[in-house]
This record gives sequence, structure tokens and C-alpha cells, in this order.
Amino acid sequence: MAGWDGYFSPPWRGARAGRRGTTGNRVSAQKADRGFESLPLRQDSRLQVTAAGSHAAGASEPRQARKGATVKRISWVPWVAWWRSCVGGVSLEDLLETFSQVGKDLWGSGMVTSHGGNLSVRREGEMVITRTGALLGHLTQEDLVRVPLEGRISPRASREAALHRAVYLSTSAGALVHSHPVHAIALSFYRDTIAPKDAEGAYILPSVPVVEVSQPIGSQELAQAVAQTLRGVPIVVVRGHGAFAKGCDLWDALHYTSVLETSCRILYLLLLNEANGH
Ligand SMILES: [Zn+2]
Repeated sequence: MAGWDGYFSPPWRGARAGRRGTTGNRVSAQKADRGFESLPLRQDSRLQVTAAGSHAAGASEPRQARKGATVKRISWVPWVAWWRSCVGGVSLEDLLETFSQVGKDLWGSGMVTSHGGNLSVRREGEMVITRTGALLGHLTQEDLVRVPLEGRISPRASREAALHRAVYLSTSAGALVHSHPVHAIALSFYRDTIAPKDAEGAYILPSVPVVEVSQPIGSQELAQAVAQTLRGVPIVVVRGHGAFAKGCDLWDALHYTSVLETSCRILYLLLLNEANGH
């Protein structure tokens, strides 16, 4: 995958990026327009307009033409390409780049131990998941294992492969990130639901459920509990174990994971302050 700045970026990102220029002046307007035009428009899809002020043209042309406005019709091509990048059609070599970058971010931010956590993405009829014991901060091509959505699971695949597959079979997730965020795990011992108090956390994750199972690693019970819960929320915490986040892609799932851990760190600091009488 070429990354978010490449071909497989969501179609709207070009427009957003364009609007993010210098604000309040003509430059930003030009950038916004360039951002919009970065989408591959079909030549024949633009409705040509006539200059305003012609009574003859105004009487016969569409209303947009009478106003002198340019109407652009967006092609479906980039949307289809972006959707395909989420559900399949991307080479393993390109996938490795994203796996590697997300794995490095998780490891670098302390949200997994050296050999902990696992990542997967959905493809057509299968998923690609990290192998058991893989170092997420140092992934190579050999660390990626293809697993069909039905049938036998390779013993090389992560111990949580059955869980990842259960999530794909019961939700529309395009990717899954499993992490061991320290503060989220600590709070999971005391809460049935984690409700962030910081503004960003409360906005993105108003309420994060905590589930408890008797065998919290690699069990069918765990797979069913997580898959069932992720039908209604993007991320769940398994008490004493870690977080499972779904997303359109790995970056999306990483985002939820990162927001959860930051919010839990803030909650933890607030609890400390309260305990100290502040
Ligand atoms: Zn784990």
C-alpha cells in the first residue's frame, strides 16, 4: 500500500489536505481547489457552463449554467480503488509496509511488549495476520501469514488468529489491532466500562467496554466475546489482557488504540490526584 499520501488514500483526503492551507486568504482557496481537482475526474464528466447574462442561453441551459457556476461530477474510480485497498487487492509487499509502520508505532509507544500483540487485515476470502511470536517492531515478510476466512488456520499464525477471523466474519472490519496498553489494562481491573474524561477521548471513544473471560488468551470464549462486542464499538478491552481495535485499515485501528491508551493515562493521573486529596 502506498500509504495515506499515496494512491490508496481515501478520496476525500485530497480535498481535506487542500483546505488545510493558509487560512483566510486566496492561497487557501487555491489549495482547496487543487485538492479537489486532485481527484481523477473524467473529462466528459464536467458540465460545461455558459457565461451568465445571455438571455438566450439562460432560457435553454440548466440552472447551474444560468448561474455561471462550474459543476464537477466526481468519478467513482478513486472510491472503488480506496475500498479495494481496504478489503483486498493489495500485494503482500505493499501490506508489509503498513504492517511494519503500524507495528513500529505500537512498539515505540510502549503499547506492546517485544513479542506481544498482533495485527491483521482482511482480504478477499482471507486475512493476513502476523505470525505467532512476531516482533511487531521489526516485522519482515516472513512474519505475515495468510489465513482463509473459512477452513484450517496455519499453526504459524498468531494465537489469536481464530479471534481475528471471528471478528471479520461478524463485522465489516477491514483490519484488527491487538495491543497491550499498560494504563488501559490497569484500569480494566477496576472498571466494567472505560469512559474517557479528556475532550478528544470522550469525543472519539465515549464508552469503551471491558469484557472478562475465564481464559483471556487464545480461547474460543475470548474470540466470541470480542467478536460480539466489536459489532457495536470500535475497540474493547479484555480485563487483564489488552485491547482489540477494529478499523477500515490498520491506521484506523491504531488510532482507536492510541486514543484509548492516552485517555486511560489521563484517567490514571486523575485517580492519583484524587487519591492524594487534590
Ligand atoms: Zn495479547
